[in-house]
Amino acid sequence: MMQQGAIESETVRSEADEAPRLEVRHLCRRFDGRTVVDDVSLSVMPGQVTCLLGPSGCGKSTTLRMIAGVEQQDSGEIWADGQMLCDGRRTVPPEQRRIGLMFQDFALFPHLSVAENVAFGLRGAGGAAGGRVDELLCKVGLPGKRDAFPHELSGGEQQRVALARALAPSPRIMLMDEPFSGLDNRLRDGIRDETLALLKAENTGVLLVTHEPEEAMRMADEVALMRAGRIVQKGAPYNIYNAPIDKDALAFFSDIN
Ligand code: ADP
Ligand code: MG
Repeated sequence: MMQQGAIESETVRSEADEAPRLEVRHLCRRFDGRTVVDDVSLSVMPGQVTCLLGPSGCGKSTTLRMIAGVEQQDSGEIWADGQMLCDGRRTVPPEQRRIGLMFQDFALFPHLSVAENVAFGLRGAGGAAGGRVDELLCKVGLPGKRDAFPHELSGGEQQRVALARALAPSPRIMLMDEPFSGLDNRLRDGIRDETLALLKAENTGVLLVTHEPEEAMRMADEVALMRAGRIVQKGAPYNIYNAPIDKDALAFFSDIN
């Protein structure tokens, strides 16, 4: 799109496009002498979805927790927008990482209204919270629900509130740990498409964890296939599906219909 000042904005844009939102290099974590995350490297570009796909127990959630900063890595580096978040010597505390989190159980506070739940995502933001809460509720399609309580909402609506709360601090990266697994099939497709459209519109980088190949195929720009702590294959969903690296990967994809 050519406009006035195109050269200047072009330069800015191409630099922004080339720097990954998130870059993880050689991440390792051991528990009780057992390596559960083994030399994991991956990146997420602005406005893109990288899917960390693998069977239960392969180390996906541990990887996400280290990126969020709530679990310490044994070695490796985590970078966001060119800023070092943790390299083993220095570490940026979780609340300063500008990383959003969404989990399978939405973990809304049952005793707080919708607006109060969303405002919780803005804690520390001071007096500006009211307007921003309404803006976020509009964004996720729940403008009329600000005074409702979680038990008065459907599962899909609760998920939207969780999304509004996660979006509140304008995170540059959203980490999603199987956030759609608890929703019934009818709701799921719509909500996950809407969620990712919102995140892409904000140029957020998304790292989506899932054990379901079908979800990765549908949502991902890039897939990192994980097994027993290691990334065994990376690529565009179509390429991974069509050329699985080995028999186990082929079997893993075989139940997609
Ligand atoms: P996934 O999310 O892919 O299902 P996890 O990252 O939750 O896998 O777990 C990977 C492995 O690490 C599992 O065997 C799990 O039991 C183990 N694990 C995770 N957290 C801890 C912990 N705090 N202490 C000991 N073992 C753990
Ligand atoms: Mg997990």
